[in-house]
Amino acid sequence: MSIWFASDLHLDPATPAIAERFVGFLAGIRGARSLYLLGDIFETWIGDDDPEPAHRAVIAALRAVADRGTLVYLMHGNRDFLIGERFCAATGALLLDDPAIVSIAGTRVLLSHGDGLCLDDGAYQRLRALVRDPGVRRGLLSLPLADRRRLAGEARAGSREHLAAAGAYITDVSQPAVEALLRAADVQVLIHGHTHRPGIHRFDLGGLPCTRIVLGDWHSTASVLHWVETGYRLQPCPS
Ligand code: MN
Repeated sequence: MSIWFASDLHLDPATPAIAERFVGFLAGIRGARSLYLLGDIFETWIGDDDPEPAHRAVIAALRAVADRGTLVYLMHGNRDFLIGERFCAATGALLLDDPAIVSIAGTRVLLSHGDGLCLDDGAYQRLRALVRDPGVRRGLLSLPLADRRRLAGEARAGSREHLAAAGAYITDVSQPAVEALLRAADVQVLIHGHTHRPGIHRFDLGGLPCTRIVLGDWHSTASVLHWVETGYRLQPCPS
């Protein structure tokens, strides 16, 4: 059994080295049972109808993974929530709800992108509720590509300003939100990304040992979680 998790690659035509790193990683996970991509695979995704040539190699590499028999699961992030059925058909990826509960080596595990857990960031949560609304989503996708591209650029600039202004505490997940989610799902392991703060956090919840595994971004190196029969490893291992 070999299962891989990654998130927050933020693939962008402006940073082709990250796409090359990802394509190399995908070529190296032969024999994997499944690959879980937990959101923000792309820095922006303005719709499956965007002919952006920089994404073709990634789509082909994902297709090759699926064709080799690895189950490829994909969850929306806050940057690529417009990924749709056409992308899934092209890559062979299966879209997961956020959150999703899966069974990994007999352990029930909760998967989430993680942005929905940043409840201390009220401004962000209001924006998230708006853009994740199905009507707003349809409206966005009905706009011409050029308009969507402009809006995505504005959203990125706004996000950068917001992150620079907000404190680190505000933009991390809220521990009460994590605990409420685990309690409601009756699960003791959570894997998420989004915060770009890789780590393994252990805590007690009503007498049960719980673990929150945070995937890192791919800005300077590949950040992955590899789960095999004997256990899991977050690479690179944060100090
Ligand atoms: Mn994110």
